[in-house]
Amino acid sequence: MSGHIPDEQGAEPYRNWNERIHAECYLPNADLGNFGKVSFNIGPTLLNWMEEYDPHTYQAIITQEKLNFEQYGVGNGMAQAYNHIILPLANKRDKITQIQWGIADFQHRFGHMPLGMWLPETAVDMETLVDLADNQIKFTILAPWQVEAQEPISGDEPYWVALPGDRDPMIVFLYNRGLSTSVSFQNDATRNADQFVEQWVMPSFMSSSDGQDRLQLIASDGELYGHHKTYRDKFLAHMLNGALHRRQVEITYPGLWLRDHQPSKFIKLNEYTSWSCHHGIVRWMGECDCTPGASWKAPLRWGLEKLAEDVDEEYQRFMTSYTRLKWQLRNDYIHVFLGEISLNELLERYIKQSLTNGEKENISKLLAAQFERQRIFTSCGWFFDSFHRIEPQNNIAYAAQAVWLTEQVAGVDLKAKAIALLRKVQDQRTGLRGDTVFLERYQRMQTFAEDKNAYFNPSSSFSN
Ligand SMILES: [Zn+2]
Repeated sequence: MSGHIPDEQGAEPYRNWNERIHAECYLPNADLGNFGKVSFNIGPTLLNWMEEYDPHTYQAIITQEKLNFEQYGVGNGMAQAYNHIILPLANKRDKITQIQWGIADFQHRFGHMPLGMWLPETAVDMETLVDLADNQIKFTILAPWQVEAQEPISGDEPYWVALPGDRDPMIVFLYNRGLSTSVSFQNDATRNADQFVEQWVMPSFMSSSDGQDRLQLIASDGELYGHHKTYRDKFLAHMLNGALHRRQVEITYPGLWLRDHQPSKFIKLNEYTSWSCHHGIVRWMGECDCTPGASWKAPLRWGLEKLAEDVDEEYQRFMTSYTRLKWQLRNDYIHVFLGEISLNELLERYIKQSLTNGEKENISKLLAAQFERQRIFTSCGWFFDSFHRIEPQNNIAYAAQAVWLTEQVAGVDLKAKAIALLRKVQDQRTGLRGDTVFLERYQRMQTFAEDKNAYFNPSSSFSN
């Protein structure tokens, strides 16, 4: 198993989609300096890949963010939940792991604490906001329909959301629906930056003129700028480097806005909502009108949740004789993965007794299983209508890896249960089944172990 990404159809003239999207979007936007002027978040998997593939662009993105931090005391980058999972569907323990891993990864790269966190698909519930606050995150961004208030919501300033206990409230920025929709879905709107400012941006500021600073926030998929839509990298640069300024609209980002302004109103959260499914968060757990007929989604969610419970139970059982802080140990495992500390150092912090090499090896395998088990819930596995795609199959492959690693240590049979659960996952058109995908990956783990006499290293997995 290696980090090599196989050739992919449709990505020509590049070898794969990562390379093509990089050339069309990340590279030109970094060259144009756009990463220093917008708020952005990039997932750890992509940044790991980019760091190796194109260190120059990777470094440019980091530097552009850091310059803001040095100049203003607040950066424009946002952290994200580590494995891009739908947080309201995760249990509290996983929410905390995802948030802490996301923060650790951000700090490792950008060298400072993030002020805000992007929630995957902006999916939210109260527990998620509580966990963000408990981990020193100050704000997040939501769609306007994810909140409600007595008075009409103008959205031209951020709001407070009250949290239980004696916590400070969470700050929520709402993006402008009309502006964001025009950028994402109306091709003509973004052909010319000056025209966009005239026809779309200026009217959004017209509704009142009380002399106060007012904010309009556009949220979009970052890969739109140059990849999904050609030349939009240049559109963005032109807008940021003059088109807005000429009409007295200054660019800012949430952290910078909060340095000079505080919210003045409270707003109520609509829990279990997201920006990309208008049926709440059903899209990532079953059938809704976003992906009609996707009958494989519910059994995939159910099956992977049951397997995750089993993997956790074995981890808990095994680790009990070593430490009571086994879940905190899992949260800190990210620092080993990031190369900040060694596994030995981590274990010494949590485990007082001296360990044999065999014990260390076992704990190491169980932690690797926990790493795999976190990413089995990556949201893109449920995003599309078909099971016969790489995303849901990747999630099952991670599950096979978590199950296999756990079995090596715990001596239990989780495979039979996995097969029974995933047999119910079936593509409605091609008939491909979840248990087939699981077995294929499980057997590859087996073969790999027999061949190399080594255990699987999660940092060198196949692409996602
Ligand atoms: Zn939906």
